[in-house]
Amino acid sequence: MRTVSLVGSTGSIGTQAIDVVRAEPDAYRVVALGAARSVELLAEQAALLRPERVALADAGRAAELAARLPPGTELLVGPEALVAISEDADVVVNGVVGFAGLPVTLAALRAGRRLALANKESLIAGGPVVQVARSTPGAEIVPVDSEHCAIHQCLRAATTEQEMAALPALRAGALRRLILTASGGPFRGRTLQSLGEVTLAEALAHPTWSMGPKITIDSSTLMNKGLEVIEAHELFGVDYDSIDVVVHPQSIVHSMIEFSDGATLAQLSEPDMRLPIGYALAYPDRLATPFGPLDWTRVGPLSFESPDRQAFPCLDLAYRAGRLGGAAPAWINGANEEAVGAFLDGRIRWVDIPAIIASALDDYSPFTPVSVDDVLEADRAGRELARRAAAASPRVLR
Ligand code: MG
Repeated sequence: MRTVSLVGSTGSIGTQAIDVVRAEPDAYRVVALGAARSVELLAEQAALLRPERVALADAGRAAELAARLPPGTELLVGPEALVAISEDADVVVNGVVGFAGLPVTLAALRAGRRLALANKESLIAGGPVVQVARSTPGAEIVPVDSEHCAIHQCLRAATTEQEMAALPALRAGALRRLILTASGGPFRGRTLQSLGEVTLAEALAHPTWSMGPKITIDSSTLMNKGLEVIEAHELFGVDYDSIDVVVHPQSIVHSMIEFSDGATLAQLSEPDMRLPIGYALAYPDRLATPFGPLDWTRVGPLSFESPDRQAFPCLDLAYRAGRLGGAAPAWINGANEEAVGAFLDGRIRWVDIPAIIASALDDYSPFTPVSVDDVLEADRAGRELARRAAAASPRVLR
């Protein structure tokens, strides 16, 4: 029996993780649930799973939740509550959205736990700090992001157990490159010019994956893929010249690795996040329950094409930040969260997102973060520059 702490339990990853755990109740037990503020759903989940502890970051709604928790469930509230439940389970699932996931990632790793990591921002923004925490004995990251989970699966087929345990110091050896697949998002095939007036509803209509609004917008700009390139660099220790992106609209091939002799290994399944979540729970074993198995007679044609780097400049902005290193990934991540927030609020146009991020990155002052405060400072600076650029953007007519 493996114990599981679900941090961000009311979001897209959290609710799907509950599906996985409920499919194998003899193998996994949820001992803690945590969310920012979704009191109703959190109470329902607690009634269903009977965890030992429930954490709510928004202390203002604590009384409302306390009244609805099953007897014997301890309630933790306030900003530190999510950190407190990230330290004592066999697997900590980090499904927190955005930069707020960093403290959860650090707490789980510093406690020597397995981190099933869906929160990509913590690794991207906090890279240098997370790498130190990752060397804690017992600590390991198993990626839940579908592309990185695919690469993890390919790598384990091609490397020794010791090499997998030593990630991100992957010995390059016969590995030539990582290839991340991208669905291309809802605007694939559109020209830069035709993207000037796209609406929020259009940007939120992802063709293959069902995800939260922030990551869905990131997917429409290809910033999601750009951030995933940085994430792959941090997770696997492969340099940027050896990480490529290919657009694959069907989202069946989740990513691949290529060897020096020209051979490629790929991982395929239907797009179903419960598979990577279950993989991270079960590793190095396999879940007994299939999620997203393929019916080969119905898969149909699989196609691959180059990303349009002119229409989707966010991809190269992320490569640029990744190559700059230091605090640049935190900087661009902060600027992106700010720009996407402004778009979701209707304050800027979709095409303003990359322009705002580019202007924030132009003003990057290089430094290397060695503490969470340094990461916060880079995030703050990136956001501040993006906020100023957003305020100067032409307003959307409503
Ligand atoms: Mg992904």
